[in-house]
Amino acid sequence: MSAVSKRDDSLTADRIMVREYLDAVPEQPDLDAAQEADYRERIKALLKEKDAVLVAHYYTDPILQSLAEETGGTVADSLEMARFGRDADASTLVVAGVRFMGETASILSPEKTVLMPTVEATCSLDIACPIEEFAPFCDQHPDRTVVVYANTSAAVKARADWVVTSSIALDVIEHLKEKGEKVLWAPDKHLGHYIQEQTGADMLLWDAACIVHEEFKAKGLMDMKTLYPDAAVLAHPESPAAVLAMADVVGSTTQLIEAACSMDNEAFIVATDQGIFYKMQHMAPDKTFIIAPTAGNDATCRSCANCPWMGMNSLQATLESLRDGSNRVQVDRELAKKAMLPLQRMLDFSAQRKLKVKGMA
Ligand code: SF4
Repeated sequence: MSAVSKRDDSLTADRIMVREYLDAVPEQPDLDAAQEADYRERIKALLKEKDAVLVAHYYTDPILQSLAEETGGTVADSLEMARFGRDADASTLVVAGVRFMGETASILSPEKTVLMPTVEATCSLDIACPIEEFAPFCDQHPDRTVVVYANTSAAVKARADWVVTSSIALDVIEHLKEKGEKVLWAPDKHLGHYIQEQTGADMLLWDAACIVHEEFKAKGLMDMKTLYPDAAVLAHPESPAAVLAMADVVGSTTQLIEAACSMDNEAFIVATDQGIFYKMQHMAPDKTFIIAPTAGNDATCRSCANCPWMGMNSLQATLESLRDGSNRVQVDRELAKKAMLPLQRMLDFSAQRKLKVKGMA
């Protein structure tokens, strides 16, 4: 087994780049109840008029999640969002999430119009794995099978042998290990490390992290567990290893929601984006959900368990995109064909194994 990180010297540059993106995130003006109701009604009417359906990620604002559910759309993880969009009768998909989700929807539904409330909503994993650096890195390791996480650009997907989601990653890597293949994994180092530990596979890890999950702290979690001794800890595998080591369940977004419903505990400490509480509370209304501690609301806490890019998906932006047909996402046809190959490989693998492919962050 080997665990080699790429380009440690550029980590600081990645952090600076992420900081610059975050500084550019505009403040969302608060809406009063009447304004909110007005936006909701106008969006509902536009969805009908434009033959559109709203698909929202678990980490978006609960207002958008409830609107998606009320209007016949869906709230899901990113691949399920794309699958839902592909299978929906609507000719237009409004994807409330981050950019790679819009791209995945476009790759799976090339004949449909894919709109996003904002195309500026990105992801620290996507930012920190640019194709200009990733492709040469792959070229340097031709003996390794390239496996990338879903949170990547279409160009990075197109360079990969496999695309995986968090719930299928363990099975795919186990499968590759059994075939004697060595793996180049990108971009999330925490998820990569977790898979490597679980499978013992030979993995070369790209060095990037989710700014939301990376901030969960094992020390704070230990303190919180003393306050809530009966609470179970649910953690997404993009969290640091020390946090995962303390978790009762490590899983994708969908797996964590399922665990919250099926476990007997009355309270849960949750290490993932707080947007997921909307669905958890809806599915398990009698249970209590507590966010796992981050660095706190100070200079070192960049997200405080709220993805700033997911937060850019507002009612106002959704209405404008739908009304104007703006923020259309179109993946170049040739690139989409290439990116579809590793995506399809995962879908076929899942179908053969009858696995659920859910749970991209
Ligand atoms: S929560 Fe993390 S992985 Fe998900 S979009 Fe935000 S930065 Fe990316």
